[in-house]
Amino acid sequence: MARPRIKVLFAGGTIGMIRNRKTGALEPAGDVSKILQLMPELQREMQLDFEPIMNIDSTNMRPEQWRVLAEHVEKNYNDFDGFVIAQGTDTMAYTASALSFALQSLSKPVICTGALLPLNELGSDGRNNFIYACRLACYNLAEVAIVFGSKIIRGNRATKDNEAFFEVFNSPNFPLLGEITRPIKLNEWRKKRRKRVPQFNHQFNEHVAVVKLFPGFQARYLKQLIDSGMEGIVLEGFGPGNIPSDLIETIDYSKDKGIPIVVTSQMMHGRTSMESYDVGYRALKAGAIEAHDMTTEAAVTKLMWVLAQTQKLEKVRKLMLTDFSGEISID
Ligand code: ASP
Repeated sequence: MARPRIKVLFAGGTIGMIRNRKTGALEPAGDVSKILQLMPELQREMQLDFEPIMNIDSTNMRPEQWRVLAEHVEKNYNDFDGFVIAQGTDTMAYTASALSFALQSLSKPVICTGALLPLNELGSDGRNNFIYACRLACYNLAEVAIVFGSKIIRGNRATKDNEAFFEVFNSPNFPLLGEITRPIKLNEWRKKRRKRVPQFNHQFNEHVAVVKLFPGFQARYLKQLIDSGMEGIVLEGFGPGNIPSDLIETIDYSKDKGIPIVVTSQMMHGRTSMESYDVGYRALKAGAIEAHDMTTEAAVTKLMWVLAQTQKLEKVRKLMLTDFSGEISID
């Protein structure tokens, strides 16, 4: 049987870093092309095509880098059975969310992975993460996912919430797509391989801000942001999306200016339910858009993606409330 063909796009992160002898800090290694030489056996299972795209700390990734990665997947889409993207963990949940919007209706997996320790350091998690990400890329899965530690997570449901050893991502509002057990377990609700026509749309609008509310937050901060040229705002509300009453006028102002305000919940496990309390209901009536159970990572990348397509407020609202890649569940 022919070995599956897997394309590895290398984007950086700790998995490709070395420790600076003087400072002790981790920095991107000069040459990452030797990564595959550390795992010769893996190439007996599959044909790996390794392409270094960039080698940066994911802290420095922006929508431009998501676009480049998405373009590489698009360009190579028909020639491979699956894709692996190796990058840093710090912003991996954002990349995975963004790619889930940029690359839709997939018939093969795009797996993001990385490491907490560089591959060439003793006890690194990078080797296993990389091996299982490549294996998963051959499996019956057809969506953007993160494979890290023992978890297989829908990309747009992931959040980095832990520095504990080797398990840094969680999927607070959606069950895992699977687990790295023996044998690997994949759950029924994952998207499976079947013939689909992929939809590629890599444009993102960067003029978006995320604001976390806190007691004492002043309406003028929000107004200044609206007047600064922002084209969309994600507002992390209290509890189920509650907004202090003195912000309602500003939300109304934002609506009049045609700038969408998407309200997420500050609760890690939970969703917005803005009709539950008067303080949420009034924000909703003033024009806020509920994020429901989207993570902040999913909400902000989706808003960037939506705003690259339209700036019409009602259209933005409709698209934000549409489920494109399993990122939102609306009761
Ligand atoms: N700062 C690194 C990065 O995100 C951390 C990591 O790779 O886990 O690129």
